[in-house]
Amino acid sequence: MSQQEVSKEQSMILQKNMLARLFKELSTAKETGKKVVYTFVPGNLSELILAFDMLPVYPEINALQSGMRKKSRDFIRDAEKAGHSEDVCTYVKCDIGMMLNGNIGPTGEKLPDPDLLLLSYTGCFTFMKWFENLERLYPGVEVAMLHTPYQEGGKITPEMVRYMVKQLKEEVIPKMEKVSGKKFDKNKLSETLENSRKAQDLITQIFDSTKNKPSPIDAYFAGVYYIGPINAGFRGTIEAVEYYQELYNEVQNRVEKGLGPVTPEGEIEEERFRLVVEGPPNWTHFREFWSLFYNMGAVIVASSYTKVGGVYDWGFRHDPQRPLESLAEYCMNCYTNLNLTQRIDLLEKCIKDYHADGFLINSIKSCNSFSAGQLFMMRTLEDKLGIPVGFIESDLVDPRYFSYSNIKNRLDSFFQMLDQRKMIQKQESHLTG
Ligand code: SF4
Repeated sequence: MSQQEVSKEQSMILQKNMLARLFKELSTAKETGKKVVYTFVPGNLSELILAFDMLPVYPEINALQSGMRKKSRDFIRDAEKAGHSEDVCTYVKCDIGMMLNGNIGPTGEKLPDPDLLLLSYTGCFTFMKWFENLERLYPGVEVAMLHTPYQEGGKITPEMVRYMVKQLKEEVIPKMEKVSGKKFDKNKLSETLENSRKAQDLITQIFDSTKNKPSPIDAYFAGVYYIGPINAGFRGTIEAVEYYQELYNEVQNRVEKGLGPVTPEGEIEEERFRLVVEGPPNWTHFREFWSLFYNMGAVIVASSYTKVGGVYDWGFRHDPQRPLESLAEYCMNCYTNLNLTQRIDLLEKCIKDYHADGFLINSIKSCNSFSAGQLFMMRTLEDKLGIPVGFIESDLVDPRYFSYSNIKNRLDSFFQMLDQRKMIQKQESHLTG
């Protein structure tokens, strides 16, 4: 398939139009009077924002877009010049650098200042510091915080749900009423949650399609595009349901034809390796990074990164009958809020369900919150499942920490290991068969 044909897929056009409309609405928000909420992807309250007719801005999505558009180097430099140390998460520095340079968003249109900073805290302390900085940079802005209790014991208790619902009722919703000038409408929220549930059913089936051989999709490199609408403010809209229905149809079509994933270079002809990946991708060299995999016929059949905005694998769905309770459960179920054992269990399930040949970690230099337990995760999965494991390092949006040759060397050894294991398995099956 040529690249021209690839770009014609209807779901891609739908997504492009949705995002263009959102950024257009944002650029005219001050004229139209629409209120703007800055918030984060993990534990986002997309449906509540929609119920108040407000518009969301996700700083980490803007940062990764800046990385892909090769703008992050200069933004990070400017943030460092303004006093942010080299150790600070590069999403934060990229976002602050973008703001210092006029806050021009990914479509080239200016982003409006926030009317509300909605800090939904799901496990990363940096989020708190990030919004403390934004509060200083936007004096007078309203701030609402929703504290999500960490799943330290590996389960959600009724007390945890009550604690969160109380915060929603007493802190978040009153702030949203104040900022939007509208009364909270529970029915409207329930309607959006019904759409969320439908989109979540569809996205789960889309990611589940990697059970097929060959896998019709790459659940990491293409997966980051698939999670776009559900994580960028459209969860809860009918548009998101239509987008995921279209994408689901396209994926089913590929399954029926026995086709592999579409990559920027066309289709993967032969699926040689099936991998599960932990950690976000590198954004500054996204295409080169992807090419290291598709050149080797490696397909990512599951990734933890596509679950940071919500884990639906274990059956969680928003529930229109229990609107606030299900918002609370959604936040507590985000990947970033799971304890290490739960994350390992989830990765183990992915490795088994999707018949992965190997497990790979892309450890992010500036993400202290989630790089900490990765070696333990890797060794545990290696011991438990006896599969080859690999470890590479890069960064989210700081190009200074992407070394193509280092990553390639490590991946070459990893692929050799996978190749050898396949040969041994083949010889063994000949002997026993
Ligand atoms: S430290 Fe990691 S989890 Fe926290 S904001 Fe940065 S990238 Fe996200």
